[in-house]
Amino acid sequence: MLPAHSYPKLRAYSHLAGHYGGPWQNQQFEFPLFTGPIVATTNCVLIPWESYKDRLFTTRVTAVPGGTRLKTSDFSSVIEMAKTSPPLVERKVRESTIGFSHNVILGIAEKVVSAVKSGEIRHFYLIGGCDGAEVGRNYFTKAAAAAPNESLILTLGCGKYRIRNHDYGTVAGLPRLLDMGQCNDAYGAIQVAVGLAKAFGCGVNDLPLTIILSWFEQKAVAVLLTLLALGVKGIRVGPVAPAFITPNVFKVLQEKFDLKLTEAEPPAELFQLAS
Ligand code: SF4
Repeated sequence: MLPAHSYPKLRAYSHLAGHYGGPWQNQQFEFPLFTGPIVATTNCVLIPWESYKDRLFTTRVTAVPGGTRLKTSDFSSVIEMAKTSPPLVERKVRESTIGFSHNVILGIAEKVVSAVKSGEIRHFYLIGGCDGAEVGRNYFTKAAAAAPNESLILTLGCGKYRIRNHDYGTVAGLPRLLDMGQCNDAYGAIQVAVGLAKAFGCGVNDLPLTIILSWFEQKAVAVLLTLLALGVKGIRVGPVAPAFITPNVFKVLQEKFDLKLTEAEPPAELFQLAS
């Protein structure tokens, strides 16, 4: 429910009390502990366990064995179940700053541009995409933690859950960690990059911008292909190469786009700022 808090019409309801859960791969551990109905809207839903399959609903093209597929926009069965479900024990972990969609960031572009010109902000990191359970994904956590204080960190998608458990402080009066939303908001990240390039009168590849993409499935690959189609160079992708990147394909992408795979540890060069 994290992104839901960014929508004024949803936020207007007191029912939207907070957020529950982490990245997609935790759902089979987290959903059994959730007491109410769950509506899954995207392909990242997993086949439910016995303990919660009666409470799992899916919409649109999403369907899983054991879950109930809602074929229309009639949510009355979900609402009825919610009304009779036992309350969820409130567990306040922390507060999060959210809602930095591309409109919001471009709305403060003037402030960001003048902070870059004055040297207060010296770099941008876009770290995000899908999350997964494999070893090596703490690369993204480490990269965000090591980003210099004079930088802004933009996140999106499930990858944010590896990054947001840390206080990054502020720079130029802005929170250093700006969450842009869901994986689909990669479009917004591209808009921000294009908007900043326009403001500085340069190309996206000339911006002080490092893109580190965590991939797991097709959406993150679509984001990568979109960035490559736009001619964006120097992207790091990991923790392993998507399956379509065979050694030969990787060689071509390396030559044409300076595409890199994430290393065992984020290298020091990632955090060296241009003077
Ligand atoms: S970021 Fe990836 S894993 Fe997470 S919901 Fe989006 S597509 Fe699924």
